[in-house]
Amino acid sequence: MIKIKNREEIELLRQSALLVSKTLGMLAQEIKPGVTSLYLDNLAETFIRDHGGIPGFKGLYDFPNTLCMSPNDQVVHGIPNDKALRNGDIISVDCGVLMNGFYGDHAYTFEVGEVAEETKKLLAVTKASLYKGMAQFKSGKRVSDIGHAIQEYTEGHGYGVVRELVGHGLGRKMHEDPQVPNYGRPGRGKKFKDGMVLAIEPMINMGTHRINQLSDGWTILTADRKPSAHYEHDVALIDGKPELLSTYQYIYDVLGIETDEEAAFHNVFSID
Ligand code: MG
Ligand code: MG
Repeated sequence: MIKIKNREEIELLRQSALLVSKTLGMLAQEIKPGVTSLYLDNLAETFIRDHGGIPGFKGLYDFPNTLCMSPNDQVVHGIPNDKALRNGDIISVDCGVLMNGFYGDHAYTFEVGEVAEETKKLLAVTKASLYKGMAQFKSGKRVSDIGHAIQEYTEGHGYGVVRELVGHGLGRKMHEDPQVPNYGRPGRGKKFKDGMVLAIEPMINMGTHRINQLSDGWTILTADRKPSAHYEHDVALIDGKPELLSTYQYIYDVLGIETDEEAAFHNVFSID
């Protein structure tokens, strides 16, 4: 059952989402060749607790860490380890926070040092597909319209859309209804209504959409070992329009990236 949130609950969800956004911004300063994902994980846990939150992933379904850290051919759910990041890597950083009883869940794929042009393109297309999916989250549309938009755009670039892992509703639980696949035919599933909150998260592979899971029971990687990208935003439906609760602005401030990609999705709230 889809849980509809009132304005107060959406405001609390925004605060949880923004703590994740700030954590990702803090990590943007630290991600470079030579650092380990376990070091970054420890930084994130301290940062979240110092800001009044609890790491949302740690212990959830028995996941051992604060961050899912998935480099290169890992799609999602990678476990932080003591291997140093190398120049040319990419790494998906997925972070969850629980604060005031509500979850934030938001992810960004970072470049480590100098990354190959074809990999940069995978990142750009995957992030653009997130906004194309978000734009479908409005009154009159249905759940599968999000995935349809993501699939059409990314397959148009020759990429593979991961099927087995999906976006989801977000609230007092990390994973609420509805499931939000990143593929599918349009016009299917539940109709969108004000007060729905979704975590929309395309997982896009440079090659085949097929995936495997490592024997650690967590790590998902591409079947052809080509790179994979993952971006995730938390979005509420307010007055029939998608309202972005998370933001990449903290990351962009650190990396010196200028873009207005989020502008169309800030209708009610302003970033503090
Ligand atoms: Mg996530
Ligand atoms: Mg998620």
